[in-house]
Amino acid sequence: MTMTEKLYDGDSYITEFECKAVDLYTTGNHICLILDRTAFFPEGGGQTSDRGWLNNMNVENVQIIDGKIIHFVENSEENVKKLEIGAHLAGKIDFKKRFSDMQQHSGEHIFSGIVHKLYGYNNVGFHLGSEVVTLDFDGEFSEEDICKVESLVNKAVWDNLEIRILFPTDEELKTIDYRSKIEIEGQTRLVEIPGVDMCACCAPHVRRTGEIGTVMVVGYERYKGGTRISILCGERALTDIRHKLNENKKVSVLTKAKQEETSAAVERLLEENERLKYEIVGLNRRFIKDEAERISPSDRIIIFDSRLKDKLLSDFTLSIMDKATCFAACFCEDREIIRYCIAGKSTDLRPLAKKLNTKFSGRGGGRPEIVQGSLAAATEEGLRAFLNAEC
Ligand SMILES: [Zn+2]
Repeated sequence: MTMTEKLYDGDSYITEFECKAVDLYTTGNHICLILDRTAFFPEGGGQTSDRGWLNNMNVENVQIIDGKIIHFVENSEENVKKLEIGAHLAGKIDFKKRFSDMQQHSGEHIFSGIVHKLYGYNNVGFHLGSEVVTLDFDGEFSEEDICKVESLVNKAVWDNLEIRILFPTDEELKTIDYRSKIEIEGQTRLVEIPGVDMCACCAPHVRRTGEIGTVMVVGYERYKGGTRISILCGERALTDIRHKLNENKKVSVLTKAKQEETSAAVERLLEENERLKYEIVGLNRRFIKDEAERISPSDRIIIFDSRLKDKLLSDFTLSIMDKATCFAACFCEDREIIRYCIAGKSTDLRPLAKKLNTKFSGRGGGRPEIVQGSLAAATEEGLRAFLNAEC
């Protein structure tokens, strides 16, 4: 079994290449191909694999399994017919995804290198998926620390430094100070960003730091005794900031505030909202007092009113219960359900609540003289008919 030549190792800008299928097998949904040479970077070290095409077949995934680079294409009848050991294939990688991955990964090296230089922390976890890139450090940062690192990282981007890939001998390696997350077997591949970082890594990188465009910290949190920092680089940073600016613009239009002053406007709105809530509570108190006075005595009183929200429902029911010889039952429709409160002193109301819950898919209960709950399948007509037959 010959090893696949890794074209991406030496040149991360090879997008098209010729190759030969040296082995293949099928597993359920996929045909698994081993090539004599490939520009497809397989998943590894926290980074997802390249995507692309072999002839006109989609390469959906690339993995290293038992030391072999496996290309996954769809197991269709058509593809099976086209493929055989020894077949010559034209490979093409999805360079839009690859370039975005390179921007993120090179940005991550600069970030981790600067953090290591300034604070001595190690990057102990790295994830490069399709959205944010997360970096886990074994130390804590203040907000100022993060701003400082972010500025220095962007300075290194604008310095447009050449990123070099080195394959040192074991002797040379002993004299080089470099970061390395794991012990790598065989030839060590080093990624050097002059004056910023030296790190063992097998992934493709941009040629010069300027290609990263920008590096933005979009979040950070305490994580496993250290800190998880989320970053976005290049086009992903642009897409993200564009989306957030657009959201802010909408808030600015809605609040009629300048885009630079939206948070103060939202704060004012929330304060106003709080004040209105208090006002409504006061008004409702007055309303139930007036309403309760207008109700004439009866054996049973049944009220439906959508204003009887929250605690008002029981307050109102209690304020009119003395006018009913049997019970006072109040209902308030609240979105999909009907909330109820029934109060009275002549009988134990708990069996009534139980029947109500059974008949109208409800739940609730209480004390002998007051029961409360909610009903999922009830109508005003149904409830009136039911209660008029009770007591
Ligand atoms: Zn790396």
